[in-house]
Parts: sequence; C-alpha cells; structure tokens
Amino acid sequence: MMRRLIPRCAPRATVFLTPRRSPLGLLQAARQYSASPAAAPQTKLQDIDPAQLVLNTTPNPKPLKKPEDLVFGRNFTDHMLTIEWDQATGWQRPHITPYQNLSLDPASCVFHYAFECFEGLKAYKDKEGRVRLFRPDKNMERFNKSAARIALPTFDSAALIDLIARFAKLESRFIPEERGYSLYLRPTMIGTQKTLGVGPPGSALLFVIASPVGPYYPTGFKAVSLEATDYAVRAWPGGVGDKKLGANYAPCIVPQREAMSRGFQQNLWLFGEDEYVTEVGTMNFFAAVRNKQTGRKELLTAPLDGTILEGVTRDSVLSLARERLAPEGWDIIERKFTMRELDEAAAEGRLIEAFGAGTAAIVSPVRAISWRGKLVNCGLKDHEESGEIATKMKNWIEARQYGDDAHEWSYVC
Ligand SMILES: *Cc1c(COP(=O)(O)O)cnc(C)c1O
Repeated sequence: MMRRLIPRCAPRATVFLTPRRSPLGLLQAARQYSASPAAAPQTKLQDIDPAQLVLNTTPNPKPLKKPEDLVFGRNFTDHMLTIEWDQATGWQRPHITPYQNLSLDPASCVFHYAFECFEGLKAYKDKEGRVRLFRPDKNMERFNKSAARIALPTFDSAALIDLIARFAKLESRFIPEERGYSLYLRPTMIGTQKTLGVGPPGSALLFVIASPVGPYYPTGFKAVSLEATDYAVRAWPGGVGDKKLGANYAPCIVPQREAMSRGFQQNLWLFGEDEYVTEVGTMNFFAAVRNKQTGRKELLTAPLDGTILEGVTRDSVLSLARERLAPEGWDIIERKFTMRELDEAAAEGRLIEAFGAGTAAIVSPVRAISWRGKLVNCGLKDHEESGEIATKMKNWIEARQYGDDAHEWSYVC
C-alpha cells in the first residue's frame, strides 16, 4: 500500500547534538533537542490527528424513532465527522459537527470521475451500555486500499478508529439496547478538487455518518432466492471489484431489478466461460457441500483473487469455521468453484446449504438459485429458512459483536 503520510503516533524526531567546544574551549553538556514536526520542512504531510478534534454539538437533538420503525439507511444521527485533506498540508483538523449538507463546487472531481470510496461497519451496545465496534481495523485497512487505488489520500488507521469511536460514543443514545439493533457507520472519502482535468485529486473530504438500524431479519431468517447472472459481470481480473468504490455499485442495480422482475431477490454473480461463482449481491458467498470423492463436509468460498470483495464478515466466518467447524470434521476451503459444480452437488444431494455473508445481515441463507432455466435447490427443506451453519455463524458472530463472547475483534469505544 502506498504510504505517503506519516503516522501521527510516530515518535517525534529527536536530535542529539554531539558535544562540541564552546568558544571558551569548555566541553558543553550534551543536550537533547526535540524538534516539533511543524518545524520540519513541509515535505511530510500531516496525518489525521485525533488530538486536534473540534467538537461542535447540535443545539437541536433529533427525537428518537421507535426502534421498530427504523429503516436501513434512512435515518441519521445528530452529528457527522469530517476531515479535509489537501496535497500541500495533508489531513486537517477533524471536526464533529451537526449533521448537515455538504457544499461542493459542481466541478468537484467526485461528480465527474467517481473519486469515491466507502466503508460499512457497525457499532453495538453491550449489556453494560458500552458502545463497541466490530473489527474496525479490518475496515480501515480496506478503506486505505480503496482510497489508494483511486489516488485518494491514505491515513493512519488507528487515528480514524479513535475518532470513529468518539463519534459512535457521542451518538450512543441512537443505539437501541435490544439485540439485533446497531448503529451503521458509513465512512466515505471523496475527491473535492474543482477541476475537469483527469488527474489525482489535490483535495479530498473524508466524512463519517451514522444510521441506527434494526435487525436485518426482524421476524427470523428469511431465505432468499438468487438469479445466477452471466449477462452482466460485477468484477474481473485486474479490475477494481475487490475495492469498495462507489463506481462498482451503481451498475449492479439494473441487473438486480431484472432479477427482481423474475422473482429473485439478488444476483449470484458468475464470472467467465466456466461460470465461477463469485459473490451474491453485495455479500460474499458460502456453500456447504459434501465432497464427491471423499464424502467429507466442506465449507467453500471463492478466493481473494481480485474479483472478490474482502469481506470482514467473510473473514470472520472463515476464522470461526476453522476454529469451531474444522474440529467437527469440516474442511474450510477457499477455492474457485463453478455453478456447474453447485448444480451437480445439488442434484446428487451433496449441497448441504448456502448463504451470503456481509455486515448488514451477517448471514443471508439461500433457498435456491435460478441457472440456465432451472432452479438449483440449495438444501433447505420447504419449512426451513436457514441451514445449521448459517444459524451458528450468525450466533457466534453476534456474540462477539455484542461483547457476550469477549474477544479481541470487539473494540470498546
Ligand atoms: C461490502 C461488501 C461485502 C461484505 O463485506 P463486509 O465487510 O463483510 O460487510 C461483500 N461483497 C461486496 C461486493 C461488498 O461491497
């Protein structure tokens, strides 16, 4: 990853002067100097500095919605976090201000060439009322990779986590206590330079907004049906489908509407002549199958080959599966697999279950996949809405998110 910026936590430069003779010929004691970063020539840009946060809270707090009335991504909290960047100075002072409109020049490069990337993570309230983030280091790592790929500035992950934690804590009253509720956080970075010239943005804005959200499945799991999509391609080798760039999402809406019009909730994105299974909608895809040769149970997901978004949930599912399913005889496998393989497994009764994995739903069980005019059944019985693995994963991951299962993945704000 490109690192143009100096982490704020780097020790200040310490200069030791060697003892020298005074004009009087006396040996002067060695003296330690501490040069402030500001005194250095401006070759090093300022990184994000939480200590410089300017906090300006709203005089008009919003009334809280009833938890059951929350609709994903529609309601926002009282405040927002903003940090501006320019190429001469680097990251400026962070601000928390009342939630408000942005004012941008219509020539801002974000509007013309899609200099935009984002993240999605959640803050949860634990039994003691503490606010917790789930694996924010993973999101920051990915945010930096996305930003670097489109010539936006990178930043010190720990510094932004610190600020997001303060922001989430400030908005704590918006997070309902009940299980399943959380505060969805949306860090976003845009290029703001006023220019129609195609080039690296000379200025950028990083902002974080927050939306209280309810359980994805308020009345329990609801398995979805997918349309295997071959006429449109979400990501390709050498492309940017493995980055969370806004530009990757708008082109997926028309195929999703098409799938909907035929009665399927989401696209199962296939890739290439061999029809490799990649992702489902905006989630990673998992299949539990019994191996044809060995008869062993396998949890399969596509490898991070550049066409797959590196989901934090994907990583969590893999990690928990290696910890808790492998000892029960499961093989946990990241490899390419095709739609034909899935179909064959289903036909032979070896497809145990399938599910999507992402921050919004954690897991989303799959009932069936429409492929080449037939319906591939993914292993659920008619009365079932989730398989065993998907249910276990949701419970295991939630236990860590809400702090019931104390674990280093949970970051107390
Ligand atoms: C965000 C996203 C995911 C899931 O990532 P999480 O970090 O688990 O939320 C998967 N696929 C795509 C295409 C995504 O945009």
